[in-house]
Amino acid sequence: MRQQPSARARAVRRRPFAVSAAIAGVAAAVITSVVLVAPPAQAQTDVDAAPPVASLAPLFEPVGLLAGSGVDLVAATTSHMITAATPPPPPPPPTHVCPTPDSEFIDSWGFARSGGRRHKGVDMMAPHGTPVYAPAAGNIRASNSSLGGLGFWLEGADGNTYFGSHLQSLSVREGWVEPGTPIGTVGSTGNAGGTPHLHFEVMLGGAGSVNPYPFVLDWCGGGAPAA
Ligand SMILES: [Zn+2]
Repeated sequence: MRQQPSARARAVRRRPFAVSAAIAGVAAAVITSVVLVAPPAQAQTDVDAAPPVASLAPLFEPVGLLAGSGVDLVAATTSHMITAATPPPPPPPPTHVCPTPDSEFIDSWGFARSGGRRHKGVDMMAPHGTPVYAPAAGNIRASNSSLGGLGFWLEGADGNTYFGSHLQSLSVREGWVEPGTPIGTVGSTGNAGGTPHLHFEVMLGGAGSVNPYPFVLDWCGGGAPAA
């Protein structure tokens, strides 16, 4: 004969119901608080007009865990949170880069040179073999002269012309390059006097040279200009 469950057993059996009732009570309290926070008309029908995420964020999680009736609010809140968490687009790649990142340079624009000439560029001091990079996108072509030695002209896509000289080697002698394309190495060809450096010029709009110091100072991240 089946025994009647003891009072204790009945209590144990009832416990899940009691817990459920408690949970429902908590859920109801939470939902009530949500409804109190949110204007009823918006919370029920208008997802886009739901209150700011910040006011619901601390509440929506218990509602979702405890009560099915909170799903609509959770869905609305979650969609807003995903929108808010979308990361910003990455910054565009730089249009200009430092032609010799590991160099030192000063503003030597206009300094006297042999034959009554004036210095029309910036001298970026670096050891033989230091990489030289295309400072901008454009078409490059090799240059060779007694003064400049081995060098390059770069007809920039930005409308400016760039010139570099005294190179030890030139790996790209013609064709299209992007900002940062390795094009050669620092040397002391031409009249560099045995001191390896990149002589660098900027011709705005392809016209006469302008002082390139502010440009390289910017592109080289402030760099480490020589004292
Ligand atoms: Zn120079």
